[in-house]
Amino acid sequence: MTAVPTVTLNNGVTMPQLGFGVFQVPDPETAAAVSHALEVGYRSIDTAAIYGNEVGVGQALASSGIARDDLFVTTKLWNSEQGYDATLRAFDASMDKLKLDYLDLYLIHWPTPARGLYTDTWKAFAKLAADGRVRSVGVSNFQPNHLTEIVEATGLVPAVNQVELHPRLTQEPLRAFHAEHGIVTEAWSPLGQGKGLLDDPAIAAVAAKYDRSPAQVVLRWHLQLGNVVIPKSVTPSRIAENLDVFDFELADADVAALSALNVDSRVGPDPDTNNEA
Ligand code: NAD
Repeated sequence: MTAVPTVTLNNGVTMPQLGFGVFQVPDPETAAAVSHALEVGYRSIDTAAIYGNEVGVGQALASSGIARDDLFVTTKLWNSEQGYDATLRAFDASMDKLKLDYLDLYLIHWPTPARGLYTDTWKAFAKLAADGRVRSVGVSNFQPNHLTEIVEATGLVPAVNQVELHPRLTQEPLRAFHAEHGIVTEAWSPLGQGKGLLDDPAIAAVAAKYDRSPAQVVLRWHLQLGNVVIPKSVTPSRIAENLDVFDFELADADVAALSALNVDSRVGPDPDTNNEA
């Protein structure tokens, strides 16, 4: 079975560099997909309250027979639950669904800046961490100004910022900011949601050179940049394929060729203007 490398977060906790994402997987299908991922060797699972599939994730974890210590579970606080007290309640609700007594990583899903609640929310995250309910706390879709504000208010630096990142949105300035402040960059939609990006001729050329699939070379690009990745698939063969990326290495020129595809183009919302609640 593939051994997935780990990254060390700023509080010493280690996190698998490659995990399994379950965005848009309906709850009834989630347990089967997560069970398959665990069978082929994934140990890190990325869900969120808003995905509506924490129950399915919890079922797969419980029935896997894998020791809790060997799993790394991430979920996210939805925007409508931001604020100090609401956050503490939402955390308990997620834990009930996941059927876990501690979480590995809890993320604020979006800053929703117009609502002005992310700093109070982060204070509740600091309490959850101090109380040992969650091993590491982080954020998602935060821009440098949002990160600076929560660190100045609490002194607590997020372990992770999970952001949209793929060869068409390389996020160089944000990655540099993370590196400077000891924040791990986690890439969501690491495959650019598949279609379009994976058909790019430049990616096909690199894939042909290594006799690998386009998805595999894109994942390899992320790993060599130091990103944590959480590709999603419900297709068993692709779930296995996306994990089978630890026995080859892209040359620097091929990493650069993928980075050169950057056009700062998002598949998801802009964090500065997304105030969905
Ligand atoms: P992704 O980039 O992982 O792409 C998934 C899609 O790519 C699949 O639906 C499938 O169509 C295709 N695909 C997957 N493996 C393939 C393969 N081997 N070959 C060909 N096509 C393949 O997109 P995603 O699901 O949006 O992102 C991954 C995870 O990131 C999510 O499941 C979720 O956990 C997380 N996420 C977080 C946020 C956030 O705001 N924090 C937002 C979106 C996604």
